Amino acid sequence: MRVRVDLKPEELPRSWYNALADLPFELDPPLDPETMKPIKPEKLLAIFPRPIVEQEASDQRFIPIPEEVLKEYAVYRPTPLFRATYLEEYLQTPARIYYKYEGVSPTGSHKVNTALAQAYYNKIDGTERLVTETGAGQWGSALSYAGKKFDIPVDVYMVKISYEQKPMRKYLMNLFGASVTPSPSEKTSFGKSILQKDPENPGSLGIAIAEALEVALSDEKTRYSLGSVLNHVLLHQTVIGQEIKKQLQIIGDKEPNVIIGCHGGGSNFGGTILPFLPEKLSGKDIEFVAAEPTACPSLTEGEYRYDFGDSAGLTPLLKMYTLGKDFIPPKIHAGGLRYHGSAPIIARMVKEGMITPKSHSQEETFKYAKIFSQLEGIVPAPESAHAIAAAVEYALKAKEQKREMVIVFTLSGHGLHDLTAYA
Ligand SMILES: *Cc1c(COP(=O)(O)O)cnc(C)c1O
Repeated sequence: MRVRVDLKPEELPRSWYNALADLPFELDPPLDPETMKPIKPEKLLAIFPRPIVEQEASDQRFIPIPEEVLKEYAVYRPTPLFRATYLEEYLQTPARIYYKYEGVSPTGSHKVNTALAQAYYNKIDGTERLVTETGAGQWGSALSYAGKKFDIPVDVYMVKISYEQKPMRKYLMNLFGASVTPSPSEKTSFGKSILQKDPENPGSLGIAIAEALEVALSDEKTRYSLGSVLNHVLLHQTVIGQEIKKQLQIIGDKEPNVIIGCHGGGSNFGGTILPFLPEKLSGKDIEFVAAEPTACPSLTEGEYRYDFGDSAGLTPLLKMYTLGKDFIPPKIHAGGLRYHGSAPIIARMVKEGMITPKSHSQEETFKYAKIFSQLEGIVPAPESAHAIAAAVEYALKAKEQKREMVIVFTLSGHGLHDLTAYA
């Protein structure tokens, strides 16, 4: 029988956990590409609202979640933790495997956790329009939903090839009232310049970011919103790990050996592991495992250095593991993991040996995604399937070594919008 641990509504975390307060090192600051000096907060304020800029560099350990955001979290949180008994049985492993399921959110992934917070802070800071980019549409749909909730219009620049090939999430964004523009577009001078050279350009995340930033910078009341990588995004995602802690306590397995998440920009992974940082720092034997695709192996094969956050070279320089901003990842189905860089917090922890990065091939991840769907009754997002592959690897290791092991992973989203990938 599958075991499910639910928290009561009143057990929803009331604060986000800010790992910057506890990490035993100071992060290298983001640099302004014009001066190569640490970027001035005023420059960030042209793009982000003040509370977000403050959170980005805050050293306060617990940051209270505003009531308005808690109310919206309560629509789908706390999310369930399952014990993967069917998978355990299939693998014949002595390991106990748990997974935290974020696919129950309104748009089917963890991204709503930060979208709601960002939309709220923009609202109270007077932002009148939010603009962002999206690849396959996970982030765009999360922000569209949040914009509707906090009454801010949302404009999404969606990579043209996805816009044409994967219209489902475009419909979802439209359903939540957002306007979706295929990128490159005629709406920005950057988009126009691309189309002049090549009217058939299929678009890229880099071009879409450039267009969204151009729009945000051209109007004082329009701001930009980012769905991963930055400290404040990881901060908002810590509701995931905090809930896991309580759920493990309830089930009586409060000392996990391995905690796993898939890693694209690092937000669901960071949100999962960071709340366990104090335990790790106090000497508990917990391994943090970041699962990425072999096709886009930023943490396992990238270089640790300053690089642009986007491929157009418009953002501040971030110190991270990177494959180079010009790296064009193969078109694997896990669109959310096709990012050249990593979150600076996660990158530094990898550098310090506090995180084990692992990579898995598309073939292997889909193999386990299919098995997982059939056993556990949840179709995983292709991104999340990387976490499953890593969990299976550890569970088989436990079997080989004949030892008990407690493995926890985050299933960041469902794959019901990704069935063409399965096909
Ligand atoms: C976007 C996305 C990811 C990757 O982003 P992170 O910031 O690394 O979490 C992973 N899983 C799903 C379902 C996504 O939508």
